[in-house]
Amino acid sequence: MSVYLYNTKTRNKDEFKPLSDKQVTMYCCGPTVYNYAHIGNLRTYIFEDLLANTLRLAGYKVKHVMNVTDVGHLTSDGDEGEDKMKIAAEREQKSVLEIARMYEDAFFRHTTALGLKRPTIVCRATEHINDMIEFVKALEEKGFAYISNGNVYFDTAKFPRYGCLSGQNREDLKHGARTEQDMNKRNPSDFVLWFTSSKFENQILQWDSPWGRGYPGWHIECSAMSTKYLGERIDIHCGGIDHIPVHHENEIAQSEARLGHEWVNYWVHMEFLNNKSGKMSKSKGGFLTLDTLVEKGYLPVHYKYFCLTSHYRSSAIFSEDAMDAAKKAYENLADYVAEFKANAEPLTALEQTELESLKTEFNNYLFDDLKTPLALSYMWGVVKDNKKSAALRLAFVMHVDGVLGLFLKDIAAKKPAAVEVTPEIAALLEQRAEARAAKDWAKSDEIRDKLAALGVGVKDLPNKQIELIKL
Ligand code: AMP
Ligand code: ZN
Repeated sequence: MSVYLYNTKTRNKDEFKPLSDKQVTMYCCGPTVYNYAHIGNLRTYIFEDLLANTLRLAGYKVKHVMNVTDVGHLTSDGDEGEDKMKIAAEREQKSVLEIARMYEDAFFRHTTALGLKRPTIVCRATEHINDMIEFVKALEEKGFAYISNGNVYFDTAKFPRYGCLSGQNREDLKHGARTEQDMNKRNPSDFVLWFTSSKFENQILQWDSPWGRGYPGWHIECSAMSTKYLGERIDIHCGGIDHIPVHHENEIAQSEARLGHEWVNYWVHMEFLNNKSGKMSKSKGGFLTLDTLVEKGYLPVHYKYFCLTSHYRSSAIFSEDAMDAAKKAYENLADYVAEFKANAEPLTALEQTELESLKTEFNNYLFDDLKTPLALSYMWGVVKDNKKSAALRLAFVMHVDGVLGLFLKDIAAKKPAAVEVTPEIAALLEQRAEARAAKDWAKSDEIRDKLAALGVGVKDLPNKQIELIKL
């Protein structure tokens, strides 16, 4: 069965054909670590992890690379805004690198709590400065870079395909509309590859370079690290939709200018999580973290379930009502699983065959551009189907859990409800024991029926022991 993915590059749902049968290469833009990831960021990472799992389900090995932006002060595209690392360091009275490590740890604590696998390679920008310098040198040698007022810029006029991903021309993509114009640029869409002069005073993280002491522009880290770990061509590149018009255009320009050929085959972008008042944003503050949700009484997996109820290419609106609904649905699912675990017998050969076809149908929803809402509703159809045995339903739900990572395997089997032994029941149990000792099976059966009428089942155990079951 083929996997289909919506490709921002072709604006089409394309059949996925990897560059190599052996391994799929996937690069995802990672977190900026001057603050906690908000739950909107986490929605993007949830779907990236699901994409990797779905490709594994389809039989591929996946090499998943994610960067950590710990240079940090530049999360926009020019020498603008504020030094966010420095502000966070002052706020929390820590060094800039302590801040970066603290928020990186928090990020992985959150992704682990959501059941996301750690990417195959996690690479920090600060540990790859030489790779970035080499990259910028190569662009300079090929004539794509120029120096202006101490900074090195990428010359977008030299890259005619600039804007190919978003379908905008260079004029539309100028950044000056959002921020003050950088007068050192030749073209408004040009961007910085290396800074030596900055309006930030006392820049803390700085490195020596052929252009002087300074620090890299934001975009270059993804081009340099993806090439280092995944080679010159990549199957899939992911990120949130906000990255399409600038960050990913700039990544394409740098990488393809250096490499001399197309770089990424499938661009997969996740839509935004919004709250009722609009977009959730890291720099605006007031955003929700996973810890805030836990404080409000939700489990991380409730948030994951909420995310999976919408398709990754639709924006989702966060609300506590929606979270309550997700929590209730998850708890209901967990109850079913506990019940199945208490009652599952080994699967019959016929059920094994049926299980395979249930799995295939479920997988097909994911293979069709990660249609999680349909996959979940298919799962519920199976879970609630009383004609199927507990064992079959359990085996199917464990398959679902293996892909979606909903912690269902950790749910304990439901304990049988305790039976209250009334004097009447005690007397019947005694008569039953006597009848069985006298091998009077007809009488024993008669008493069993009387007990059943009182809602009590009896299971005989070795050594004349019995187990009472609430019917
Ligand atoms: P950042 O740490 O700001 O670079 O963002 C990390 C990832 O989250 C990127 O892929 C962004 O595109 C994505 N992202 C940012 N805001 C949201 C949002 N509100 N909903 C979903 N994804 C987002
Ligand atoms: Zn990136």
